Amino acid sequence: MPGASELAAPSAPTRALPPRGLELPVLPPEPLDGVYLVACTTTPPRTTLSASIDDENDAAEELASWLRANGAEQPFLVTSAHGRQLGRGITGVVGAAAPGARATQAWAQAQSGRARRADAVVAIGGGRCLDAAKLVAVGAGIPFVAVPTQLSHDGVCSPVAVLPRAMGGLAESLEAVAPQVAFFSRPTLIRSPLASLRAGIGDLLSNPLALHDWNLAFEAGLEQIDHTAWNLSAQSFRLIEPLLGERLGPEHVDPALIGLLVDALVTSGFAMMVLGTSRPVSGAEHKISHAIDELFGGRAHHGAQVAFASLVSVALHGFDVESFRAGLVNLGLPHHPRQLGLSHDDMVAVLQRAPSTRPGRFTVLERAALDGSATGALVRSLWADA
Ligand SMILES: [Zn+2]
Repeated sequence: MPGASELAAPSAPTRALPPRGLELPVLPPEPLDGVYLVACTTTPPRTTLSASIDDENDAAEELASWLRANGAEQPFLVTSAHGRQLGRGITGVVGAAAPGARATQAWAQAQSGRARRADAVVAIGGGRCLDAAKLVAVGAGIPFVAVPTQLSHDGVCSPVAVLPRAMGGLAESLEAVAPQVAFFSRPTLIRSPLASLRAGIGDLLSNPLALHDWNLAFEAGLEQIDHTAWNLSAQSFRLIEPLLGERLGPEHVDPALIGLLVDALVTSGFAMMVLGTSRPVSGAEHKISHAIDELFGGRAHHGAQVAFASLVSVALHGFDVESFRAGLVNLGLPHHPRQLGLSHDDMVAVLQRAPSTRPGRFTVLERAALDGSATGALVRSLWADA
């Protein structure tokens, strides 16, 4: 079964790839003073792919016995509507909750008291459901088990929870707890919406750009580079890089693609776990996506917005915009503000707002320090008809 720890040697594409506007930067040399020669002590989450590829009832049985084998004999279940079928064989359940649209920090806090008698919080659902369950596990002081029903972003195996404080509030990024173990049901994931799989790939397109941004901060003397986290982020991108070159349609969604995306997302999440922050996988493009959220509410999956915003980063870094745009078209990801319901003026407002969404993280946006008219010119150069 592939796990993050077994991903040391991803199969690199053997043929020469066309330029895609995304090149991994060269890893800066390790400092010689030994300060950064500390071995990585973080343990990657144990990940399991279901043996079943087409029957969700079989996968449900596998999940139930896998939980027992992994010591979750009296779990507290947090499920979304899409996770109900997968969770129905689980035994010994001491409590259950379904956050639905109420997935907030306040909701999680209220549930954590109920979960204290359990030996693990088992979350079966999409991103918000998993994020709410991470906070329930933190509050109850027990391990967290992730059973994602979608692969739409790399927070699946990260220690970060993104949730509003209360209903109607803006989502906040919180330090929570990473899963010790994660179970991936292939029948469930194969049937998940194609848009969510595209978004999962989209979230990983930011990794090389985030590494370039990290390198800018290093060159400016603002930050050090952690080689383990850097390599994991790069490795995650290499896994999905070949997908940029071909059209991705529903006919391409098969167990192999699901396995590849699981490996890539878990590896990316592990890069965050190693460093304790999202720095290796999140740069200017994430700031732009956050600015869209803040100003206009989410207009698409997080990973889809990040992929769209990566076009701006590609331009500011001076890479090949048209090649990258063609990759977004191939993957069915947004590549024009219109697809997110945004006008030229909206995009200028987004780019002006982006740096303040994460103050202190130096990226190509801060280096460019664009004023209003330079931002307008950049938007026109990327989308003449916006
Ligand atoms: Zn992301």
